[in-house]
Amino acid sequence: MRIAAVIVGAGRGARASRGGRLPKQYVSLNGVTVFRRTLDVFVASRCAGLVQAVIHADDGEAFSAAAAGLGSAVLSPVTGGATRQASVLAGLRALVPHRPDLVLVHDAARPFVDADVIDRVVLALSGYDGVVPGLALADTLKSVGPDGVVARTIPRDGLWRAQTPQGFRFGALLAAHTAAECRGRDDFTDDAALAEDAGLTVGVVEGSARNRKLTTAEDLDVAEDELSRAERWPDVRTGTGFDVHRFAAGDHVWLGGVRIAHTHRLDGHSDADVVLHALTDALLGAIGDGDIGQHFPPSDPQWKGAASRIFLEDAVRRVGARGGRISNVDMTVLCEAPRIGPHRDAMRETIAGLLGIAIDRVGVKATTTEQLGFTGRREGIAAMATATVLLPG
Ligand code: MG
Repeated sequence: MRIAAVIVGAGRGARASRGGRLPKQYVSLNGVTVFRRTLDVFVASRCAGLVQAVIHADDGEAFSAAAAGLGSAVLSPVTGGATRQASVLAGLRALVPHRPDLVLVHDAARPFVDADVIDRVVLALSGYDGVVPGLALADTLKSVGPDGVVARTIPRDGLWRAQTPQGFRFGALLAAHTAAECRGRDDFTDDAALAEDAGLTVGVVEGSARNRKLTTAEDLDVAEDELSRAERWPDVRTGTGFDVHRFAAGDHVWLGGVRIAHTHRLDGHSDADVVLHALTDALLGAIGDGDIGQHFPPSDPQWKGAASRIFLEDAVRRVGARGGRISNVDMTVLCEAPRIGPHRDAMRETIAGLLGIAIDRVGVKATTTEQLGFTGRREGIAAMATATVLLPG
């Protein structure tokens, strides 16, 4: 079952912009943008690799910064339309070549969605064409006339507030959207309304009170206050990694994601990037989530010759899934040759990009072993790494 997500964040969010500069989905809450927080939840879900963001034409750079380090877990963003409905359709069309079975449509401005809500929506889709998470209304509803006088009280029995992600069979939702576009309808405020109009059966599951949409500047302030309390005393984790690869006949090595000309290559099932392997293990160690060999068995032919950045991207995704942030990483390369110094900053820059952190949080050091041991005999290269990860307190 292939499950995709469309994350709609193409709006200008004028009501919530702080100082009128940034659309709300790019506002930082405690150092992490709203959009990134939302992406992290879906990248950590079964949608990873099929997360399609829809953004405003002016926001390409802001989105790239928000999605830094997520790599192939998110697809290239597409530009949205004039309405939310048009933006969702743009996202659905971009997913067609990926042939998903189910699609979840979610607002970028709901960063506090969690895995339980996503699971409830996906599970319930076995019984309906579409599923909406919602909350039964607690407040009494009044219909108020233009004179400010209550005209009547509306019984709240059976009334729910709809949230996202709203889940659908992909083909059915795409067909309903396409038909609405052909009829010139562009006024549906959510996908469930459009699906109901198309005659699809839409079920409801319990949403979550935390899964609210950040709409006003006040919403952003309240959200940041709550996050500050939760994140003020983070759970600081440290992990270590160590790896060795032997030399074989060749003319270059990969170290820290950088191709370096050398008299030999490093032998291994993947590209044998000993630095990225040690770093991947350090991140996995920090969150107690096994090691590189467990997640990417050398016996599996699909990793033969693989670029090691995919192992690191997977570890970054696992840290994100725990709500974690990478604080810093530090590596030591042990070899007589090649010389690491000339490539140090290229390696730091590459790794900083893969991790989505600033370059001053990435250390790369090198040492010889005074011609002692296997590295001293130039039989191979070893690398050590340390990673510090902040999990929510
Ligand atoms: Mg290795």
